[in-house]
Amino acid sequence: MSILIKNAAILSLDNEGKFSWLEGDIFIKGDIIEKIGRKLDVKADVVIDGKDKAAIPGFVNAHTHAAMTLFRGYADDLPLDIWLNKKIWPVEAKLTPEDVYWGVKLAILEMIKGGITAYGDMYFFMDEEAEAVKEAGIRASLSVGLIAVSGDPSIKLKEAEDFVARWNGEAEGRITVMFGPHAPYTCPPDFLKEVVSAAEQYGVGIHTHLAETKKEVEDMYKLYGKSPVKVYEEAGVLNLHVLAAHCVHLTSDDIEILKNNEVFVVHNPQSNLKLGSGVAPVPEMLKKGISVALGTDGAASNNNLDIFEEMRTAALLHKGINCDPTLVTASEAVKMATLWGAEALGLKNVGRIEPGKKADIVLLDFNAPHLQPKIDNLAQIVYSAGSADVNTVIIDGKIVMKDREVLTLDEERIFKEVQKRVKRLISN
Ligand SMILES: [Zn+2]
Repeated sequence: MSILIKNAAILSLDNEGKFSWLEGDIFIKGDIIEKIGRKLDVKADVVIDGKDKAAIPGFVNAHTHAAMTLFRGYADDLPLDIWLNKKIWPVEAKLTPEDVYWGVKLAILEMIKGGITAYGDMYFFMDEEAEAVKEAGIRASLSVGLIAVSGDPSIKLKEAEDFVARWNGEAEGRITVMFGPHAPYTCPPDFLKEVVSAAEQYGVGIHTHLAETKKEVEDMYKLYGKSPVKVYEEAGVLNLHVLAAHCVHLTSDDIEILKNNEVFVVHNPQSNLKLGSGVAPVPEMLKKGISVALGTDGAASNNNLDIFEEMRTAALLHKGINCDPTLVTASEAVKMATLWGAEALGLKNVGRIEPGKKADIVLLDFNAPHLQPKIDNLAQIVYSAGSADVNTVIIDGKIVMKDREVLTLDEERIFKEVQKRVKRLISN
């Protein structure tokens, strides 16, 4: 299968990390971008008219819990410990594998419609999630969430190992895996060491929550006399590829440790704001050269899975609280949402439109009043555009959304299944 996108404004990134726009064509063969240029003389199975459209790399939602779309609007305006202990964990205890499958499908539908072509997830009943990913045609890095403070941790770790062995590289390579120790406060150091040795054995990374709340930091000092980042460093976690969601409460020593260990931080500004967790020191991390990606976190703490909103929130928030309009530029926000998200997921061939890279491409329709005039498309994307402007989505060289219709998922069926299941889940 080959696709030719004609006459689009193509967002490309040079080796110095500078974005530029090229008016031209993109030729996709199989799952790879083969050629980019003006008036390409090639024959393709499918030709897409790119007039008035911007072709950008697909967005990466680097940290979410997809099935939590089932709890959208169920637990709002509560502190994190009450939100988790009184609302989310009790209702999660009632989930069946099929509930997760349908919740994930709803999440993927929403993400594709918002231009997200890859995401990072940590949850449970991950076999069902992997099935949904396989069917929907999206790319995902999946982790079985590990909590060692209840149940038998060794059984859970074995489950996670089985999942890693079963799914790594499946769905034509669209599915990759990591181990998912939930957080320092749910995974004591001895257990973390076991997870590290399993991850080393399978040659995969770690997806975790880190330094999300003040309470977490206080508890770690009470228990171990050190910060959550230090706890992870001493347990050997940071020697691996680590995707660390949140990193809100950090000391300057912690930032140094994250930098020295090349940790991939995922900033979830809307979730942190909604749960009142605080604001991550993103400008400091970027200044140090730490790779910072963007995530929505789960839909119960956001409440949508929209990377346009996370980009804009990140770009505005840090300017505002630091009284400095030069922080988190449009260019940085777009990199956080694309290339750096791909890096956090460990995807080397994704995140930019360039010959030889995977064809994960989103076409934005600029034929809209809020995107006129077309002066600087990059600023328009961060400060003016939204999910509804996503017209076409190509993942791994396949068209999964055309003219806003998702071709791989049955929208009506998903809405029905989710509604039915949520009714049961939230009834007493
Ligand atoms: Zn999370």
